[in-house]
Amino acid sequence: MNINDCIFCGAPTGSREHTFPAALGGRRVNKGILCGDCNNGFSALDAELSEQMRQFNGLIGVRPDRGDRPHLAVADFEGESIGVDHTGRPMLHAARVVGEEPTADGHTLMRVMVSDERQAQQFIGKLRSTGQTVTIERREHRSVHLDTGHIHMQFGGEVALREIGRVALNFVAHEWPELARKRELDAFKNYVKGLEASAASPSPVWWSPTDAFPIPVPKFHFGHQILVAVAKSGQLLARVRLFGTLDFTVHFADFPVRDESAVMFDIDPEADHPPDDLVRSTLGIGVAPNWVARPMVGGLSDLDHLKSAIAQLLNKVSARQNMLVCEALAPRLNATCLLGDSERFHEVASILADYPGVVLFLVRHAVRTAAQSITEVELQPLFEPLVQCLLPDPTAANGLSEPADALVSLATQALALSIATELSQGAISLARLGEFVNGLGASIVAKAVFDQWLRALGSNGELEPFGRG
Ligand SMILES: [Zn+2]
Repeated sequence: MNINDCIFCGAPTGSREHTFPAALGGRRVNKGILCGDCNNGFSALDAELSEQMRQFNGLIGVRPDRGDRPHLAVADFEGESIGVDHTGRPMLHAARVVGEEPTADGHTLMRVMVSDERQAQQFIGKLRSTGQTVTIERREHRSVHLDTGHIHMQFGGEVALREIGRVALNFVAHEWPELARKRELDAFKNYVKGLEASAASPSPVWWSPTDAFPIPVPKFHFGHQILVAVAKSGQLLARVRLFGTLDFTVHFADFPVRDESAVMFDIDPEADHPPDDLVRSTLGIGVAPNWVARPMVGGLSDLDHLKSAIAQLLNKVSARQNMLVCEALAPRLNATCLLGDSERFHEVASILADYPGVVLFLVRHAVRTAAQSITEVELQPLFEPLVQCLLPDPTAANGLSEPADALVSLATQALALSIATELSQGAISLARLGEFVNGLGASIVAKAVFDQWLRALGSNGELEPFGRG
């Protein structure tokens, strides 16, 4: 096979395909790896992985290669699908008509849900363009509490693993064109094509424990990494890490002992265009002395590793959302410095009320931490109703039970008081604000919640008496 021929079938190449899937933020195209037919033949694999990654892309805000805005993640809310942007904000895909009825005077009364003013204006503009007269009778504000429990993740399966193997092979072909065309790789290529799906056992691509073999830390926060290596053991290997968290090992083939070599590609899915999107680095000789792809323990059905990796990724997403919230909050909060104490407190509370998700997160965190740290068995049942009332309530208008709603208000007031007090000394830095939406905030909120809770228990032992503030 010539080094310019298709690595799969030997036909002349010329197709310009993404080395790394465009849907995951890949911006580079390659010539000289695939022929047009093979490239098209893999579009179903590419589509499957892209679809599975759609939720992560949405939460992280990855812009597709052809498109100026990130897709939204999709959450189930009250049985309907609703979008979530990378700041955690619920977004309808478009204005939604939820009711329409004729009025006595011959007009039509419509109830329409919108996410923001832009969507409202778009909707009204569309009606007007058809010659209709539109007036707004009433506006209602409704907050919606979403958490990751609303966002359905579906990830894994043989097709996705084959696609990950195919992507890793692209990088081998890019780095070592001759190696990628050796017949020792035929079995692996058949696996990618789905021809050896049942025969390929153990699978040559699998979820990888983080300690499978060491891999440099990602260069980009939510970066993807592809490490291709020829190890001294004679194995041609890859480690694939998606979004800096989800790890896979790929074992392409074994060769007679060859010089070891390892090359890392760091890909930034948040970069707008080349050259900022990809960094190639050669790992020094001796880095991979004894790398051996150890077969996966527990089989593909052992998903504990996957679950914890996804949980870790979602935590990273939450931390980033918190940072974005702080960046939005800082100028507004700091503008209240010069107000009088009481006015400042009310202003801070009303600013925080725009971010109910942040306070809810702190309340949940405080309650979970407390519930987990209680060792006295007889005290544990007391926590149960508190934990329960904070779970998402699909029957409630804003997704929260009434007691939870009251707790969030209470917590907002407590947090506002602390922040307003600090603001009386001058502006708050971004780092300090970060503490208020993390550990420090959780302890402030915990104190307010538990004081109120103990008072409620003291009165009649029930949870119901939570008042607002
Ligand atoms: Zn081909």
